[in-house]
Parts: sequence; C-alpha cells; structure tokens
Amino acid sequence: MARIQRLDPTTSSRIAAGEVIERPTSVLKELLDNALDAGSTRVDIELVNGGRHLIQVTDNGCGMSPEDASLALQRFTTSKIRSINDLPTLATLGFRGEALPSITAVAEVEMVTRPAEQPEGVLVRSHTSSAPQVHAIGCPVGTRVRVQRLFSHVPVRLRALKSVAREVQLMQELVAHYALAHPQVTLHMQHEGRRLLFAPASTDLRQRLAVIFGQELAAQMLPVSWQSLDLSIQGAVSPPSINRATRQRQYCWVNGRPVRSPLVSAALERAYGALLPPGRHPVAALGITLSPTLLDVNIHPRKTEIKFLHERAIFVGVQEAVEMVVQRLAPATLPWEEVTDTAAWQAITVPALHVGEAETPYDLRSVAPEGAAIQPLTQIGNTFIIAAGTQGLIVLDQHAAHESLLYESLMTAEPTSVELAEGFVLHLSVSQYNYVQRLQTSLAALGFQLEPFGKETVLVRTVPTILHTLLRLGNLLEAFQEAMQRSTSQSSPEEEREHLAAALACRTAIRAGDPLSTAQMASLVEAVTHQRLAYACPHGRPTHVTLSLAELERRFLRLTPSPPARGQGEE
Ligand code: ADP
Ligand code: MG
Repeated sequence: MARIQRLDPTTSSRIAAGEVIERPTSVLKELLDNALDAGSTRVDIELVNGGRHLIQVTDNGCGMSPEDASLALQRFTTSKIRSINDLPTLATLGFRGEALPSITAVAEVEMVTRPAEQPEGVLVRSHTSSAPQVHAIGCPVGTRVRVQRLFSHVPVRLRALKSVAREVQLMQELVAHYALAHPQVTLHMQHEGRRLLFAPASTDLRQRLAVIFGQELAAQMLPVSWQSLDLSIQGAVSPPSINRATRQRQYCWVNGRPVRSPLVSAALERAYGALLPPGRHPVAALGITLSPTLLDVNIHPRKTEIKFLHERAIFVGVQEAVEMVVQRLAPATLPWEEVTDTAAWQAITVPALHVGEAETPYDLRSVAPEGAAIQPLTQIGNTFIIAAGTQGLIVLDQHAAHESLLYESLMTAEPTSVELAEGFVLHLSVSQYNYVQRLQTSLAALGFQLEPFGKETVLVRTVPTILHTLLRLGNLLEAFQEAMQRSTSQSSPEEEREHLAAALACRTAIRAGDPLSTAQMASLVEAVTHQRLAYACPHGRPTHVTLSLAELERRFLRLTPSPPARGQGEE
C-alpha cells in the first residue's frame, strides 16, 4: 500500500464527514474495511460484551511501517487517496482517513502491526488524553486492532446501545454482508469464545451462500450472471416460492462495498413481477461491478450508501439479470437437473450401419418445414442440443447455430443499436485504430457508433442490440483484430461488413462447453422451427443436422418407408 499522508484542507473539507462511530457495528465496519483494503486473505473478529468491552480485528494484510502506524490514528491521514480528484478511480473501501481517529476519540485503541519487509512490528497505543505511544514488538505480518471500553466516556452513546444480544446480531449481519461481498477472504467471528461465523475462503459463491443462508436455502438459490460492456451483475436470488416478510435478507455490494440500495431492491422485485405474493420479498445476494467513475461513494459518512450516476442503467440491468433466471421458471419447463442428466444419452452409440445407397449417415438437408414446434430435449457434452421434431431428430451444434443467428441478424439491412449508459473507451494499437477509422461506415451499418477519443483511443457510443449483453472488452478487440486481418485494400464495404459480422458473431456466440439453460436451448431450437437457422455458420460448418424418420427406419432395419398408423403395428 502507498504511504500514509495527511490530506490537504480543501480535500478533507470536501469529504462527507460526520459522526461515524455510533455503535459497535460502526467500529467493526471501519476495521473490516481497513483489513480488506490491506489485501488480507484472513480476518479474525473477537468480541466481548456485545463489543462494549472489546472489538478486536486481526488481519494478515500488508501491515504498516512504524511511521505509518503512528500517523494512522491521526485525523485525515490516509494512504488511499491524495486529493479529491482520486475519488473517481477509487479502488479501496476507505478513503477519508477518519475512521481510526474517530474510534480513538471514543475508545481505547491498541494496534499491533508489521509489514512483510520488517523483522518485527510495532505496538501503538492511543488514549484520548495522550499522544500515541509506539513500541517495537514481535508479531506476525499483518495488523491487529483492539478497541476497548467503547463509549466509556460518552454516556449518551452508551445509553443508546441495545442489548448485548442485539448488538451482536447487528454485527453478525454486518459480517455476513462482507462475507458475501468478499468470498475470497476467510472470515472468522467469535463472541466471548463462542464461534458465530466461520466462512472459509472460496471461489464458489454457493459455498458462501451455504454459510450465510444455510445449506438448504443456498441449494435452492438461482445463480445470476449478467454482463454488458460497462456493468456486471453476479450473485444469486431465491426462486419466487421462497420469500420473506422483510428485505433484510437482500444483500447488495457494489465493487466489493457492502451497501443498502433501495434502487437495486426495487429492480430486483420488479423482475419477479406477479410471481411474488404481495408484501413478500425475495432473498438475494447481488454483486454489481462497474467503473468507479460511474459511482459517487462520497455521499454518506458511514459509506453504507452510494450514488449510481446512471440509475436507469443499473435498474434495467438488475431487472434483466434477475428476470432471466426467475421468469424462466415457468412450470412447463423441466428443472435444470433433469435436463442436464446426459449420462443415459452418452451410453448410446449409434451403430455405423448403412442400408441402401451409400450416403452420409446424417441427412444434411433439413427436414421439410415443420408444422409443429420442435422441442429441445437435452444438451449433450455441453456442446450439442438434441431436439425432437415430428419429422425426425435434430442435433444442433450450439456454437455454430448461435454464431450463425448472430451473423444473420448483424447482416440484416438495418440492425438496431443500443446506446451505452456511459461511452466505453477502447484503447487500440495504431493499426487497429487506422482500421477502425477507415471502416466507420461498415461499423455504423452494423450498429456501432465510435468516436475518436484521443491518441489511438475510441469511445464506443452504441453497440448492436443483439450483441449488447454478449460483448466484452476482450472479445470486441479480438473481433476487430480478426476482421482486420481478413481485410485487404481490395475489400468492398460490403465485404468489410461481412468480415466484421463474422468475427463478432464468432467471438460473442456461446461456445462448445458452455452449459445452457432450457430457455437458451429453446431459443436456438425455435430458429429451426421457423426456418431462420442457416445450414452453415459463416465458417461453413453445419449448424444442425437432421436424423430423419426415414433415416431412423433404415437404421432399425424397418423397410416400410412410411410411419406405422397410430395404435397398431408396433412390433
Ligand atoms: P482510511 O481507511 O480512510 O484511509 P483509516 O483511519 O481507516 O482511514 O486508516 C488510516 C490509514 O491507516 C489507512 O489509509 C491505511 O494506510 C492504514 N491502515 C489502517 N488499518 C490498516 C490495516 N488493517 N492494515 C494496513 N494498514 C492499515
Ligand atoms: Mg479505513
């Protein structure tokens, strides 16, 4: 971490200040922010008497040098920002340099800290009356802050505290919120030696959900994963059948910062619509990631609220992310587990048996137009979709099929585009920049609006609607690179557009190996029903093959060409 410095008066006056330490949770919150900002992978919390006698937080983060340790307890000293101009790019939870001094003002604070590069650490003790005292001490790398006798000199605050049990419960809620927002950190919390929470580090959100919500509820929660160019929403929500009388169990965090957001709760509940009984609320854990430039974190002294600068985009994003998983649970669809049970399918190998004239074993011609809808049955190997039509069995290559649909829709006369909430900045190489400049017309025809934005940089204003949720910074750059390599000085604008559409389709389509939801399978299969799916993807690979009834009959050595009449002749 950078060294601690005192903020200049202009900056400190512009930082939302105020009473920060109101109750034990306020202390714990500030100490957790500091431990996480220090890059810790393990944080231990010890409490005595509901936090009144002791709140101790031990971390294994970066620690502080002796000089920093004595500065840390003073007002407006921080290593996290240098001036107010750093706020738009803030990557830490803290930034005011006020927390430790505010705690010191209402309690006895003792801090033991050691950075990795020092053989030993220091002990800093601060009592309201005297200047901090610093002593050398042997200790592990990291920081331990002990806050004792909270509010012993502030009777007003002391009287306002709730029962020990209630204060402990509030702190437990707080730690649960942090645990969801930071699954990569091991969190351990105890009160007077009794363990209240142990959340081992995990990359799997479901494990964290199990710790916080209990195994049973966690198993039923539906994963949410949604991304657009400038916004990512990840987490889990309860199915509509699981709901609560309050919004207490709705956790939200933004760029790792646990917050309460009425906006996110409203968007979440809008997504359930009529599926939720009136007056009931879903359980949710939703993490939002976006550029810090699209946030104002400096609106609340306790940093528990933030302001989204583009509220509409957040609302729509959360609603869509949750709708995708909640509304898809219409009773007619099969539960996900049943659909993915492919073991039985994989055991069947189709014998390479040819009866009659030599031909490709699978009929590459599509079956005659289907009267009825083709039904998706299952996905095998996370690569192929098996579907049943009245005329036979259809196998789709999920990547080729999706790629082909994206390509076709990018090549329609006038693709629609979506304006991004905030322009999206793309840093290019010199050749990519020249290419993008030269191809403005073809890009505009696809629905991209790009503006020059300084040296080798463009601002993406709009993107084709069909790609809106699929585009990532990486795949967009790769697609430009691929299309650029196919472009020659002789290419016509129409050819350039084709190259771009093909590259974009290929980079954004679902891939072999991606598990699909029933709804995703259905939407690909629906394209076959309506004969919108081309036979080959832009690279010439088949998108789907049909095993017709006639073909099946030949394989089963049924020599009668027509299907048997209903109700008879089955043997
Ligand atoms: P802020 O977090 O807003 O910067 P604080 O008063 O909470 O202000 O902390 C002051 C400084 O002390 C921080 O900027 C940081 O450099 C240092 N610090 C506090 N706690 C820790 C910790 N657990 N590990 C490492 N450094 C810490
Ligand atoms: Mg802090």
